[in-house]
Amino acid sequence: MKQLIQRAEESHHLTKKEIILLLQDKEAASLLFQAADRVRKKYVGNEVYLRALIEFSSYCKNNCCYCGLRRDNQQARRYRLTPQQIVSTARQAAQIGYKTVVLQSGEDAWFSSAIMAEIIREIKKLGLAITLSIGEKTREEYAAYRQAGADRYLLRIETTDKALYAKWDPGMSWQNRARCLRDLKDLGYEVGSGSLVGLPGQTLESLADDLLFFKSLPVDMAGIGPFIPHPQTPLAQETPEGHLELSLKVMAVMRLLLPDINIPATTAMESLHPQGRLLALQSGANVIMPNVTDELFQELYDLYPGKAHTGPNAAQYVRDLTHKLAAIGRTVHFSTGFHGEYLKNNPA
Ligand code: SAM
Ligand code: SF4
Repeated sequence: MKQLIQRAEESHHLTKKEIILLLQDKEAASLLFQAADRVRKKYVGNEVYLRALIEFSSYCKNNCCYCGLRRDNQQARRYRLTPQQIVSTARQAAQIGYKTVVLQSGEDAWFSSAIMAEIIREIKKLGLAITLSIGEKTREEYAAYRQAGADRYLLRIETTDKALYAKWDPGMSWQNRARCLRDLKDLGYEVGSGSLVGLPGQTLESLADDLLFFKSLPVDMAGIGPFIPHPQTPLAQETPEGHLELSLKVMAVMRLLLPDINIPATTAMESLHPQGRLLALQSGANVIMPNVTDELFQELYDLYPGKAHTGPNAAQYVRDLTHKLAAIGRTVHFSTGFHGEYLKNNPA
């Protein structure tokens, strides 16, 4: 196992069989995390890119079985920020020092293509890079957002196991989700994808397929999140046990395979373990997306129970984070954090 990890650290290549071996192995996990940490340091440095997350609507027309925002969850308390509120939240983030915002929501038809384009144009006037995470759209819609100034798009494939996707994402089409990712790449977005780890019925084989799918696109970013069961969904009886450890392994293998991409330490990891983000940052991750949404709405954006909150003071959160990161030898970096930025600024 040691040799396999060493070879992957140098070649950034693994077969599907080798990926499965790495994910299976319990003893070699710490060697895997250390190797991913070294690759992270070499290709993206010690800086941790911060991106301000704005969760602007909890309405969703979809019915993903794992998500608390699913359409059939009658108990979900829905909210929708106005375009003015979204822009003003972005302005506050810029005042703290953020250079980039992530606009995320359920699939909410109230935000037409024209309204989204207007929000994007207003935020661009603040000099911020913009990432969208608003689900599946037509190619024309993606083109309109891009033209308005959107730079990046996050759309997790969730799983490359098509039967599993059909089961847990009823009414949606895996082929359409993959089409979205191809269109986004084609239109010149930096593309982020990712997987949910721990979905009932998911195999190590399908997680290996996910990793090879990300390499084949290739993605510019990828977020790996442990699945955390929500009590008001059909998957309420599931347990998140083991999902964090496996997510960290999948993430670490991804760092070996795609050495220079941006990998967030996800909120779901922090939600399962008080040090979840720090563990992720020491196992291949280099990005944190602090939530800058008004605290009241952070609570209503209820994807899963125990979702980590950033507290009432976004500026204080960054100061505290800076101290925590310093303790593990890392620095907060308020840059746009585009793919390849570190190597460009620090040629070998
Ligand atoms: N609606 C858009 C979409 O689905 O792409 C963006 C927002 S959606 C809430 C963002 C991500 O939340 C999804 O891609 C999914 O992986 C994650 N998520 C949803 N429910 C979750 C759960 N129970 N545990 C962990 N992550 C979850
Ligand atoms: Fe909607 Fe996204 Fe949740 Fe699915 S994961 S129900 S698309 S918010």
